[in-house]
Amino acid sequence: MTRLYMVVPCYNEELVLDETSQRLKEKYESLMASGKISTDSRVVYVNDGSRDKTWEKIQEKHAEDKIFSGVNLSRNRGHQNALLAGLMTVKDLADCVISMDADLQDDINAIDEMLEQYEAGFDVVYGVRDNRDTDTAFKRGTAGMFYGLMKKLGSESVDNHADFRLMSQRALDGLAEFREVNLFLRGMVPLVGYKSSTVYYKRGERFAGESKYPLKKMLSFAIDGITSMSATPLRLIFWAGFILFILAVIFGVIIVIQHFVENTAWGWSSIMAAIVGFGGVQLLALGIIGEYIGKIFLEVKARPRFIVQEFINEK
Ligand code: UDP
Ligand code: MG
Repeated sequence: MTRLYMVVPCYNEELVLDETSQRLKEKYESLMASGKISTDSRVVYVNDGSRDKTWEKIQEKHAEDKIFSGVNLSRNRGHQNALLAGLMTVKDLADCVISMDADLQDDINAIDEMLEQYEAGFDVVYGVRDNRDTDTAFKRGTAGMFYGLMKKLGSESVDNHADFRLMSQRALDGLAEFREVNLFLRGMVPLVGYKSSTVYYKRGERFAGESKYPLKKMLSFAIDGITSMSATPLRLIFWAGFILFILAVIFGVIIVIQHFVENTAWGWSSIMAAIVGFGGVQLLALGIIGEYIGKIFLEVKARPRFIVQEFINEK
């Protein structure tokens, strides 16, 4: 029988934990009754340094029912680190682990199909949303652009898949080998390899509370995703510089010829245009290089990605 652990990162989620726990408990009870998962399966909430009563709530759930466990991080480390902390804490206890958001946007009923795929021999099962009706037009547009760009830049991440996925124990062992500090799990998991499949689900609205990914965070997550998965932007700088260089040479030749043939004055406007144009391109190029140097800086320091303060789990 499959011992299933679920990992649910929580940052200021006290408003949703009652409902989430209720629904997960019902799901676990039915899965246990039908013998699909073992009775020592667990739901592990990871408290990512919440400022509200999330940890107290998790402890309360744990006291009420032994299916609920908790990992308390020493401080807020962000969604990706919190998720990894949970996965690494439980990987040796479980046959497979499903990661899910706390806010019930991921469909709990997709768990059955994920388990079936796992039983059928898949090591990774991606939850893929089959529509974006619950998103604003803006988020839909930017998300589409982001996934398109990621693909062009050579990352294998699965379209419209957030972090709702099942991973087998050996896939998690593989993930543990990735020592990088800049985490973009949905891009890293395909690199682990093994056989994978997808399960489609309908993504709902956040049950309560507000999104922890405002626009600014979403943008920086996208930039992190691109620069930690692909070095292609650096290559693009090279090509942009190369093309500009060729253009500059042609332009220079034309100006010199014009000066001698038509006797035109040496122009200020063309000089200004060149200065502004090249200045802009150089700043952009430096910005992109800076983004990578920043990443290298963080990787070289190799600071811990999370620190687990406490793990409460009924044996
Ligand atoms: N989250 C976290 N740490 C953070 C921010 C978010 O653990 O610093 C969790 C959050 O509690 C939720 C999940 O990550 O379970 C996804 O966040 P959210 O639902 O706010 O993002 P959205 O669905 O709006 O993209
Ligand atoms: Mg959400």
